[in-house]
Amino acid sequence: MKHLLSVNNLQVHFKTFAGEVQAVRGVSFDLTAGEAIAIVGESGCGKSVTAQSIMRLIPSPPGRYVAGEIFFDGENLLPKTEKEMEIIRGKDIGMIFQDPMTSLNPTMKVGHQIVETLNKHTDLAGEAGKQRAVEMLALVGLPNPEKRYGQYPHQFSGGMRQRAMIAMALACNPRLLIADEPTTALDVTIQAQILELMQELKDKLGTSIILITHDLGVVAGFASRVIVMYAGKVVESGTTSEIFYQQRHPYTRGLLASVPRPGQEIRKKLSPIAGRPPDLIAPPQGCAFWPRCERAMLVCREVQPDLVRLSDTHLVSCWLTHEYASKGATIRS
Ligand code: SF4
Ligand code: MG
Repeated sequence: MKHLLSVNNLQVHFKTFAGEVQAVRGVSFDLTAGEAIAIVGESGCGKSVTAQSIMRLIPSPPGRYVAGEIFFDGENLLPKTEKEMEIIRGKDIGMIFQDPMTSLNPTMKVGHQIVETLNKHTDLAGEAGKQRAVEMLALVGLPNPEKRYGQYPHQFSGGMRQRAMIAMALACNPRLLIADEPTTALDVTIQAQILELMQELKDKLGTSIILITHDLGVVAGFASRVIVMYAGKVVESGTTSEIFYQQRHPYTRGLLASVPRPGQEIRKKLSPIAGRPPDLIAPPQGCAFWPRCERAMLVCREVQPDLVRLSDTHLVSCWLTHEYASKGATIRS
């Protein structure tokens, strides 16, 4: 199947006073048209940087693309000029964030902001633009869309602002929507409604979606595939069912253990992974997870395990799935 997006060996660094942070260290994945995938990991694992790289939103300096390619619809985005990217952003790729206020202008009526996007990227102007904006506000489930059109973002509740931002991101019918923690700031009920809305719109409009989240709990039922990132790398990826029921990486298991299940006493029994992610100025040699991994072996500290293919869709980077380990042999570096 033809890929809408192919990220190949993406590496992104940031200069800081303390040294160069290796935020993304060789990330590769593909996305087919109409597919919804999730990129999951703790804060600082490089998932947002990966998303922002696709939009080419990494500020340079201090950021820089060290290596890799990002093919969107067959064209590498990394060498594109800022002018070319301005056309692609909004029109071909839309993005929504955790805080709608980062994309909504507080001093401008919501409807006008959507019209502005339409004017920039489409030939819808005047009444047609307004009509399309009202349609979008209705499509994302805002009651009274005509009235909402003329209101300011502060007149919207948090959940409504998130809906307005989705309306704006989808106004030009982009082929890809990147949603970076879109529901993190919302309460659980609104969170479920927003995810349901995104799912509905994906089916209705055929938009591909990349959902970025730290919470594996919101992924089931939404994404068909999951990419788990740790310390700037993909440590496991597979279909949602492979990740939920046949996961092989101790980090993925740790993430799943901290997902509340129905009937479970919330918070009390959840076991977040002990320890903290490594400093990416000087990432550990070997598997970056070893300082936190209960199953770490000597080899883990010394040699980085390659991503091994377990099925057409399932990849994992862990010495425990290495062929020698499965035969019970001693792994030596
Ligand atoms: Fe744990 Fe070793 Fe696997 Fe890393 S490679 S996750 S340290 S067992
Ligand atoms: Mg983030």
